[in-house]
Amino acid sequence: MKICPKCKKQYDENQKFCKICGTALVEEKKKKRVGLYILIAILAIAVCTGAVVTGMVIESAAAGRVGKQNRRKQRRKERRV
Ligand SMILES: [Zn+2]
Repeated sequence: MKICPKCKKQYDENQKFCKICGTALVEEKKKKRVGLYILIAILAIAVCTGAVVTGMVIESAAAGRVGKQNRRKQRRKERRV
């Protein structure tokens, strides 16, 4: 299916120019483009979700390390006293 970019009229594959305005017809890819946008959106959401989850895991891991270090420091202080 081909479509005129100016008047949006649809023609058969063998038609090269618009019968009304004479503009060169282009392949109609609207449906494919919508699918591609949905795919990109899903990928973007997946990447964002993955990044957030990864960030949370790294933050929690870092917090755990800091917590252990603080505990060790506190124990040292207690021994000194
Ligand atoms: Zn036209």
